[in-house]
Amino acid sequence: MAETKYIFVTGGVVSSLGKGIISSSIGKLLQARGYNITIQKFDPYINIDPGTLNPYEHGECYVTVDGMETDLDLGHYERFTDIQTTKANSLTTGRIYKAVIDKERRGDYLGKTIQVVPHITDEIKRNVKLLGKKNHYDFVITEIGGTVGDIESTPFLEAIRQLKWELGKDAICVHLTYVPYLKAAQELKTKPTQHSVKELQSIGIQPDILVLRTEKHLNDGILKKVAAFCNVDFDCVIQSEDLPSIYEVPVNMQNQGLDVAILKKIGEPIDAKPGLGPWKNFLERRAKATEEVRIGLVGKYDLQDAYKSIRESLSQAGTYNDHKTVLVFVNSEKITRENVAEKLEGLDGVVICPGFGQRGIEGKVIAAHYTRTHNIPTFGICLGMQMMVVEFARNVLGYDDANSREIDETTEHNVIDIMEEQKNITNMGGTMRLGAYECILKQGSRVFDMYKESIIQERHRHRYEFNNEFQQEYERAGMKCVGRNPESNLVEIVEIPGLKWYVGTQFHPEYQSTVLKPHPLFVDFVKTAIENKKK
Ligand code: GLN
Repeated sequence: MAETKYIFVTGGVVSSLGKGIISSSIGKLLQARGYNITIQKFDPYINIDPGTLNPYEHGECYVTVDGMETDLDLGHYERFTDIQTTKANSLTTGRIYKAVIDKERRGDYLGKTIQVVPHITDEIKRNVKLLGKKNHYDFVITEIGGTVGDIESTPFLEAIRQLKWELGKDAICVHLTYVPYLKAAQELKTKPTQHSVKELQSIGIQPDILVLRTEKHLNDGILKKVAAFCNVDFDCVIQSEDLPSIYEVPVNMQNQGLDVAILKKIGEPIDAKPGLGPWKNFLERRAKATEEVRIGLVGKYDLQDAYKSIRESLSQAGTYNDHKTVLVFVNSEKITRENVAEKLEGLDGVVICPGFGQRGIEGKVIAAHYTRTHNIPTFGICLGMQMMVVEFARNVLGYDDANSREIDETTEHNVIDIMEEQKNITNMGGTMRLGAYECILKQGSRVFDMYKESIIQERHRHRYEFNNEFQQEYERAGMKCVGRNPESNLVEIVEIPGLKWYVGTQFHPEYQSTVLKPHPLFVDFVKTAIENKKK
């Protein structure tokens, strides 16, 4: 394609409608037609990135290969499309303003008064176009966080209005709304959608395509009514009914011609409908996989979105093992020595989740002890790995006071220590060990067998690390350091070879598991959990 085309995905009526899933599905469908695509997210909050946000505020923080802490929607983009996102795929109001203010301080604006329009809107537009130009994408899909009518999304919508005007046919707007069903009246209501489109029109944006989220099927009469009231072609009104799995959404969108509607609007030729072969194979396999494997998530955030990528990775791994993964959240703050057996009862495998700070730490250590001594398949991720290491020090090496420096600054047995380059850092935002790093796997280790290669790359997000001073003691007692960073020599993976599956990774493998390329560690872990269940 000669020029990059731009698709803006906006939302109306309420939040949490799944703009991220719709954006990912659009990406998936265009990819299937041979286009080179990327997906970008604008978040209207003032934080520079979500790295400093509590998961209760914004769910999981997803990390890109180049070390940007981003919104969890980027995880959907990667899981659906296998693209690799970067810093340029995630922007916030904070980052936009910071860039503009930095330019102002440098004197780049030559004495002008800096204003929301044009300076902030220009910076937004620059970030949209730059992404397309730099990489010669056919399509840049830009999802705007929040809901039309929010005060903070106004500059983003103004930038879209201008871009649509400047780019003509090369830019379209897909607007996602909600059609509620009123039980008492037994009616589906389109008025909120009409209002939301009016709101968008009042800003000067005419949506080209509407996607209506609904819990009940919408008949043609309703779709026609929406089309007529909103100035949108009938074949450009698509419905997105609730489905058993988010992974079914692309197929549903394709069946209704969302990709055809986009290409028509943009003036691209429309070839035969692509097959989505491997994707459909995955869905078929998933539908058949009804036997359950129960995996416990030991963590402190009782919120689905907090461990989003871990949940998706385990769920994908279930499908590839022809099982349905049932995830059981186990609040680590509530785990005690007395109740741990009861809390973990009936679980075929346990994941000890990542996290920060003191809260719920001891519960993770107790869980790691229980699963190690009862030979239950266990996967420790980041803080989870660190707590496996602490537990081993306390109960096998005999250091009662062993801890991570993060939790106890004074312990002599700081088996998890602050990284050298982290010691003088005072700014919390964006300063951890972030992004992809190489790791060399030890020949003959279990993880080597799983990856089937010796050099891997995985993404990190932490300040603390395994303390190499204790390495020999660990190795002698049976916990092996089987993955190392080739430059810094940091320990990235520990495992206990004699157990069914007891592996801790300092990195976050969950950021790299996708629907079509499930992560080998998750696949093997779930496989072992299934075997464990059978016994
Ligand atoms: N809090 C730990 C650290 O900073 C682990 C971080 C994590 O689990 N992502 O090292």
